[in-house]
Amino acid sequence: MSQGQKTTIFQAKTIAEARLWQQREIALTGKTLGFVPTMGNLHKGHGSLITAAKKQCDKVVVSIFVNPMQFGPNEDFEKYPRTLAADLELCAKLGADMVFTPSTSELYSRELAQSSFIDVPEELTNKLCGTFRPGHFRGVATVVSKLFNIIQSNKAFFGEKDYQQLLVIKRMAEDLNFAVQVIGLPTMREADGLAMSSRNQYLNAEEREVAPVIYQILMQLKNQTREQNMPIKQALETARANLATIAKDKLNFDLQYLDACAPDTLEIISNDTQNPDLHSEIVFLIAVKLNEVRLIDNLKV
Ligand code: AMP
Repeated sequence: MSQGQKTTIFQAKTIAEARLWQQREIALTGKTLGFVPTMGNLHKGHGSLITAAKKQCDKVVVSIFVNPMQFGPNEDFEKYPRTLAADLELCAKLGADMVFTPSTSELYSRELAQSSFIDVPEELTNKLCGTFRPGHFRGVATVVSKLFNIIQSNKAFFGEKDYQQLLVIKRMAEDLNFAVQVIGLPTMREADGLAMSSRNQYLNAEEREVAPVIYQILMQLKNQTREQNMPIKQALETARANLATIAKDKLNFDLQYLDACAPDTLEIISNDTQNPDLHSEIVFLIAVKLNEVRLIDNLKV
């Protein structure tokens, strides 16, 4: 291909087109299919999922859909960045084979309030992001189950960046007997440690300068618990105090949660005063609001 020439990719805008494509390219050929669900505005984090899917499966489908059901009334659904042309280009460049881009009315044939939904048990959803975003995980589980019914892949790829979401989707797929294998992949970061996210572009210069502290705090927690054997409770208290100092100096730095959990169950172990080595693995999870921008991150140690 000559330089500057645009790569093209098959785009299915309707469920019928997506099913027809799979009939032709997968069912009739016996090839394996990998699936990467996204909300678009693709960055290197999404790219890493597409690349992994490409390595593990014969064909790869990416979906791009900003799902209204997972946004609260005062959240950023309307202003969420939509960059379809660049997204299609990146998908083609990374070797994806089809992009599914349904409209809202294509995916939800009724008003959301009249639509059926999937609720994953509260033990996974009534904490962390679930506390601050009521209904969010219902929206996520519902749209992913709809997408799994439309894109019948062997493996579906999700980022550990959204750790609670990954566990919710794994649980939903297991409980509802979806045939797909749900695979979680590591978080891609900027050079200064900030987890890549479509929401990073909302940050102004001052907020962008402060944002890497989120990852620094997670690394500090890793060091204190794993190198210094500091009990989880004490390490978290130190981290929260550090963040409170930053919040005092900076405008509108709001810590929504900083907790330690068991990685498979999300059981909260933030008040554990024992030697942290009694836990073979711990995941620290954090959500911060920098003015209006909500950022999340986590680190498994
Ligand atoms: P989103 O478009 O934000 O819904 O994300 C689509 C998928 O990409 C989800 O599985 C996310 O967890 C994943 N993802 C988002 N950011 C990153 C990142 N920085 N590294 C790896 N995966 C990510």
